[in-house]
Amino acid sequence: MTFMKNGVADYIVTGQWAKKAAKEAEKYGKVNILASSADKTFSYIPDCSDLLVDEDADYVYICENNTIYGTKYHSLPGTKGKDLVADVSSCFLSEPMDITRYGMIFAGAQKNVGPAGVVIAVIREDLIREDVPETVPTMLKYKTQVDAGSLYNTPPCYGIYICGKVFKHLLKEGGLDAMKEKNERKAKRLYDCLDESRLFSNPVAKDSRSMMNVTFVTGKEELDKEFVKAASGRGLVNLKGHRTVGGMRASIYNAMPFEGVEKLVDFINEFEREHI
Ligand SMILES: *Cc1c(COP(=O)(O)O)cnc(C)c1O
Repeated sequence: MTFMKNGVADYIVTGQWAKKAAKEAEKYGKVNILASSADKTFSYIPDCSDLLVDEDADYVYICENNTIYGTKYHSLPGTKGKDLVADVSSCFLSEPMDITRYGMIFAGAQKNVGPAGVVIAVIREDLIREDVPETVPTMLKYKTQVDAGSLYNTPPCYGIYICGKVFKHLLKEGGLDAMKEKNERKAKRLYDCLDESRLFSNPVAKDSRSMMNVTFVTGKEELDKEFVKAASGRGLVNLKGHRTVGGMRASIYNAMPFEGVEKLVDFINEFEREHI
């Protein structure tokens, strides 16, 4: 809404969130879909090395980690000089990122940072402009928020306070390098288990795997349901995949300890032994 100066924006559609974002953008200008992985139920990240970026595009938009499908960009798209805008809601603070590659990133706090109700936006200075389209409400201008130190209106103080606690905790734990190491170890344990399994598999292209959201299926809908129910009985909850894809999904955000992943792996192995 605020970045559409030329009224043109380029989107790469790798799942529900990018699709929804592209649809909303259509309210404000012309939207080009540069690439999409809809043809294979968003199970991979398309090759984005040589995209037909519109000369007039105000930005190129991606959803970096696709929460529902369990995919992540392992290299950022070539934007031919255009600013990259990324929804990083489900991978923010899971590992270090090179912020200089983006014009802007934003993340809902509720995955890795804190309670719902807080959104973190990091914007390059020159993109914080006064001259945004006239239809943009004052409080939705980034300039308004920045000038007021994010206190233009009363912010959700308690949510921000909790985020601060989490930031301090992350620093104490060794920062994002340490998070990355911990998260890689967790994800590897789970993907290795699925790769070795004769019952379960991960339906995502190997070069597109997410470190935060690990999806898996048995190939039989009934058996998937049985697994989710049995797991829940063991205290392994929230493993049901998104209703649009079915199957299972383990969201192993920062707060999930390695021991939690081990418990899941043990249960996957046990369930396999009983059902094969
Ligand atoms: C969770 C999520 C959202 C939306 O968050 P809500 O929980 O609906 O507020 C947007 N984008 C991504 C990538 C997400 O993971």
